[in-house]
Amino acid sequence: MLKATETEPKIASSKSSAAKSQKVRVRYAPSPTGIPHIGNIRTALFNYLFAKKEQGQFLLRIEDTDRTRLVPEAVEKIKESLSLLGLDFHEEEMYQSKRLDVYKKHLEILKEKKLVYEDEGAWRFKIPKNKKLSWDDAVHGNVEFKSDVLEDFVTLKSDGYPTYHFANVIDDHQTQITHVFRGDEWIPSTPKHLLLYQAFGWEPPIFVHVPAILGTDHKKLSKRQGAKSVIEFVEEGYLPEAIINFLAFLGWAPKDEREIFTQTELAQEFSIDRINKNSPIFNVEKLNWFNKEWIKNLQSDDLARRINERYPRYSEEKINQILPIVKDRMVTLDDFGLLGALFFEKPNLKENQKDITITQQQFEEIITDLIKINAWNEEEISKIVQSVMEKNNLQKAQMYRSIGIALSGKLVTPPIFPAMEILGKEETLTRLNEAANSKR
Ligand code: GLU
Repeated sequence: MLKATETEPKIASSKSSAAKSQKVRVRYAPSPTGIPHIGNIRTALFNYLFAKKEQGQFLLRIEDTDRTRLVPEAVEKIKESLSLLGLDFHEEEMYQSKRLDVYKKHLEILKEKKLVYEDEGAWRFKIPKNKKLSWDDAVHGNVEFKSDVLEDFVTLKSDGYPTYHFANVIDDHQTQITHVFRGDEWIPSTPKHLLLYQAFGWEPPIFVHVPAILGTDHKKLSKRQGAKSVIEFVEEGYLPEAIINFLAFLGWAPKDEREIFTQTELAQEFSIDRINKNSPIFNVEKLNWFNKEWIKNLQSDDLARRINERYPRYSEEKINQILPIVKDRMVTLDDFGLLGALFFEKPNLKENQKDITITQQQFEEIITDLIKINAWNEEEISKIVQSVMEKNNLQKAQMYRSIGIALSGKLVTPPIFPAMEILGKEETLTRLNEAANSKR
């Protein structure tokens, strides 16, 4: 029973012996009120990494008790986001909406103990007066609330569904959750949860309140600031490996300066004491950097396979041939589409024609000399282009850009000499001729 005293001992501690001796069990408990954005998935990732590190279990619980805010495809999108990143969970996912009888039964216990009262068909928990509620948060250290700042809160609503607080505590207890990782916006809810744990006579789990992710404007992460879903990022050509790596560093850091980690390496390194309580900033530039590094690090065959999945009409063999000259310029897989298109499609000269600034005559000089090459390779091609450039006193940028547009129709191209080598003599000459004619 609750005692309303000022000297209530701490009721949770990260050193809690019960939690220590138990097998680690954690859960990701999203409310299906929308498609989770990448920041929400960071909570899932921390749970997952911790479970893997401790050889524990990672569960998925769908907190679908707010019937007015349900979004039909949300559960599917939550599962898809986890699966894209390989964050596999143990057991079947749990749905709170299927456990109404459990919550009802627990309400009866509180009724018997006279800890709740009816308020228009809903049942409110009565907050005891003058009570200190504190816990040893694994990230924030000792956190303390006075019960007087809390208001009596609803446990079971008049529609028969539990509130977040009520269902969350009962489920965490029944599923033997040892560590609760969640966003630190939930800190003000935790004292209510502690009261419920006390009311039922249960030991609370260890609370790990992870810092909220902010946008570069230092405000709550918004869609404009990059709060898209994992699904969207993957569609845009970000690698799951890079997304995981990036997310892990939002609020956590390893012991040393290393930055590139596989999921398995992250799990080995992960530890709660290295979670920072200050809010990390979501910076897409940093994600781009991780993605670029991961693209560089992937085995060529693996990268070619992934590009082929996005562009099935490009053969893996051809992709492999092109990759060495475009790989370093790719930030996302989509960049292959941009940089590699010239090898698969005829250029459309129209769009950037005005940027072809060398003359028809100069094109023809190049073509005349290129025709004579026997060994068609980038060195030979380069020699000829350089000499026409020097003879005509042309700027390098002007020459390269004009040839680049002739080959691809675009302003952004792979390095032109190796591109011409791969394209082959005949096709290169055809394209240069077409560009020359367009200057007529
Ligand atoms: N359903 C809550 C959320 O969506 C869960 C918070 C918790 O993990 O306790 O954030």
